[in-house]
Amino acid sequence: MAKSEKTLRVCDNGHEYEKSSDCPTCPICEQERKPESGFLSTLSAPARRALESNGITSLEQLSNYSEKEILTFHGMGPASLPKLRAALEVEGLSFQK
Ligand SMILES: [Zn+2]
Repeated sequence: MAKSEKTLRVCDNGHEYEKSSDCPTCPICEQERKPESGFLSTLSAPARRALESNGITSLEQLSNYSEKEILTFHGMGPASLPKLRAALEVEGLSFQK
């Protein structure tokens, strides 16, 4: 009987990892890309990439956008907004109205 077999894969950076799903993401690369601190580290990977791919890597840059604009970014979901809002508040910032 065929179980959900894990297959050994090697990513572009030479990391070996096992995956049973079709997800092509290398967990080691994913981990290395993750910022150790800052508001980006609190976000899910897709949400983080959504901001980074739009050139947003700081709260100051984030505060130049409205929530509506942020939600149009591919990968950004409504679940990430409270985290972003809270991170902005800590710095005395807020989204554009
Ligand atoms: Zn890798």
